[in-house]
Amino acid sequence: MKPAPFNLLRPKSVDEALALLQSHGDEAKVLAGGQSLVPLMNFRLAQPHNLIDLNGVEGLDPIRLDDQTLAVGAMVRQRDVERSPAIAERLPILREAIEQVGHPAIRNRGTVGGSLVHADPSAELPLLAVALDAIFHLRSAQASRSVAAKDFYQGYLLTDIAPEELLVATDFHMPPVDCGWCCTEIARRHGDFAIVAVAVLLGCGRDRRIDFARVAVGGVGPSPLRMTAAEQALVGERPGAELFRGAGDAAAQAVNPPADIHASSSYRRHLTGVLVRRALATAESRIKGRA
Ligand SMILES: Cc1cc2nc3c(=O)[nH]c(=O)nc-3n(C[C@H](O)[C@H](O)[C@H](O)COP(=O)(O)OP(=O)(O)OC[C@H]3O[C@@H](n4cnc5c(N)ncnc54)[C@H](O)[C@@H]3O)c2cc1C
Repeated sequence: MKPAPFNLLRPKSVDEALALLQSHGDEAKVLAGGQSLVPLMNFRLAQPHNLIDLNGVEGLDPIRLDDQTLAVGAMVRQRDVERSPAIAERLPILREAIEQVGHPAIRNRGTVGGSLVHADPSAELPLLAVALDAIFHLRSAQASRSVAAKDFYQGYLLTDIAPEELLVATDFHMPPVDCGWCCTEIARRHGDFAIVAVAVLLGCGRDRRIDFARVAVGGVGPSPLRMTAAEQALVGERPGAELFRGAGDAAAQAVNPPADIHASSSYRRHLTGVLVRRALATAESRIKGRA
């Protein structure tokens, strides 16, 4: 199918884009990489009268990395994050996550901001945002505000962003330098959305006990979830197969996944336990400085 007719608006600056959003409100949608929005328009599930194209807007594509934060402009292409040597060095879990997003052609166009705002419950970038306590920087013509990832995701494809607001950048908090990581998932075919996806970060102190643990799961609810019971079970303990099995069990017990044509609820719960256990073992093997 072809999309319903629409006006294409091409602002050159953030201020111009925000003025357009304010004047058109619910009648407008912003276009980033188009990898989610355009299929929705082609199926006429979205029929915006005005499409505000962000591709000519300046200032939305910086990547800044320091010891504390990776700041990514909303229009940074997923492929640019995937190919950044600095990100591969300092935040390799982000590259591992993005490599599992669709196919290269999709990642060439798809943006970090578009994926974060689209908020598919199985998507890798929202999962990483929740795992890394990301902060979303939003602007409207009137005001700026920042929202934590845990508050941003509110339901299925539902976020705390108003029709007149734009995501301008996202700050991902950097985990400890030495920590191990793993982002893994099960999908029916390579490039499909995950049935269940898991992101794990694990750090150990000098006493070889876990002092940093992040466990997040996607595809088991309307939004990605932090597995706090699993994290609590890990911290203070020595890494090992039994501990990881227990953390996986804790995560599986904490979720109440939906059933759909791709998988039953019980299969998703089972995958949660298995993937958390495997991801923890992989993360442990990647902790720097371990003999
Ligand atoms: C075949 C296929 C397979 C895919 N597989 C995966 C996958 O495995 N994992 C995965 O995560 N994704 C997958 N995707 C989706 C892909 O990652 C999209 O790129 C992403 O979801 C949306 O990013 P975009 O830049 O294309 O945004 P768009 O499609 O342009 O926009 C998406 C939504 O976000 C809004 N939006 C975009 N930018 C902003 C902004 N700065 N401020 C406010 N609102 C904004 C738009 O208005 C729209 O509602 C797949 C897509 C396809 C076509």
